[in-house]
Amino acid sequence: MKDQRDLEKIKEMLLREKGKILSKLQRNKEEEQNNRGRQAVGDDADHAVALEEEKLRSSLTAMEIQRLRAIDGALQRIENGTYGYCEECGEPIEEGRLLAKPFAVLCVRCQEEREKKRF
Ligand SMILES: [Zn+2]
Repeated sequence: MKDQRDLEKIKEMLLREKGKILSKLQRNKEEEQNNRGRQAVGDDADHAVALEEEKLRSSLTAMEIQRLRAIDGALQRIENGTYGYCEECGEPIEEGRLLAKPFAVLCVRCQEEREKKRF
């Protein structure tokens, strides 16, 4: 991925995605505060619902934060010129893969290897 135009496009995608995640996190935080208020006044059933919601939200938040880190990592790699190369084997990552998943850090082969090891 040495084409400057493609990099610009990917950078734009990453920044847009980052903005979306940040506003989602902000919304979550506001909901959490509303939820806290409800917990203070509600009965046991309300509390149970609120607790479930909170659990769901915090796992979603963790996921979004992880995604945010991946995006920041990709943006950093664009800046220092290492973007688009596999972290594992150093080969260029397939362009179609980067367009579909702009913060991928592994080529398809290494990703498959890693997943095989995990299971
Ligand atoms: Zn690789």
